[in-house]
Amino acid sequence: MTQLLPDDLWRDFPKTAPAFEARFASEEACRAYWIAARWGGEPACARCQSKRVWTIREGTTFECADCGHQTSLTSGTLLEKTHYPLKMWFRAIFEITARRNGISAKDLQRIMGFGSYKTAWSWLHKLRAAMVRSDSEPLGPFVQLDEALVGGKGGPHKELVLVAAEANGRARLVHVENNDAETCKRFADGEVAADAHVVTDGHAGYSARSLSGRGHDAVVQTKAERREADAVQGCHWTTSNCKRWLLGTHAGAVSAKHLQAYFDEFVFRYNRRKTQGPARIAARLIESVVAKPARTMRQIIDGARRCRRFGSVHAALA
Ligand SMILES: [Zn+2]
Repeated sequence: MTQLLPDDLWRDFPKTAPAFEARFASEEACRAYWIAARWGGEPACARCQSKRVWTIREGTTFECADCGHQTSLTSGTLLEKTHYPLKMWFRAIFEITARRNGISAKDLQRIMGFGSYKTAWSWLHKLRAAMVRSDSEPLGPFVQLDEALVGGKGGPHKELVLVAAEANGRARLVHVENNDAETCKRFADGEVAADAHVVTDGHAGYSARSLSGRGHDAVVQTKAERREADAVQGCHWTTSNCKRWLLGTHAGAVSAKHLQAYFDEFVFRYNRRKTQGPARIAARLIESVVAKPARTMRQIIDGARRCRRFGSVHAALA
């Protein structure tokens, strides 16, 4: 088997739907790709790391010649215990990543021929779990911070989100309870490089203390000034894109409980918006699916608590 490094895999990934269909037409082809992404082409025993393994159970599992341990293709990954062929997962990954605006659970259900909406919904959530912080480099060197309200047309269901954006670059969105100084500090420390320079509006939550001494311009603008040269335009641009996506692809039907998972998907795609050949984003997602530890659907749903990123802070303060 040829040894492929992650970058080769990425470069080699089909760029169009017909190329994708030709490349991953069989379960064997999908498995070979999976093995390349997970083990660099040479499967190893999960217990003793031996590479002396042979295939059993129609190619879904390897048995170790040295210790007898059986390692399934998907064990220890996000797809552990899946009852579906990899070919179907690859297809779903392609559908969610190759489209500029992703896909709704309803459309995925139709395309994949799932009997229930719930199956499609849970597949999307599984894949979103692979999109969490997939690019872990903190933002910099110039970062705008802002907040926005998302959801519920003027009603009581608007949810607060903190936004960080590099000028013309990457962004992060975090669903929060409030925008007090403590929350702003957690957000900045979690998402922004320690030596970055920060621009905010006049919001009092951002101060030398909450920004841990980062360089800071607090720019208070009138509406007219903002129209002329918005100091936090990257943030406004990011949130308006995200809102449009939630309303468009998902018809606004996103509950507060799962809002962060949708932000994770949005940011995963948004931060790769300049990637040549959008289908290659699928290769990055497969890498992440392979690398993330196994989690059951129950764990993913239970973990999607409201404002989960900062849940512990608020519990501690309460
Ligand atoms: Zn072994």
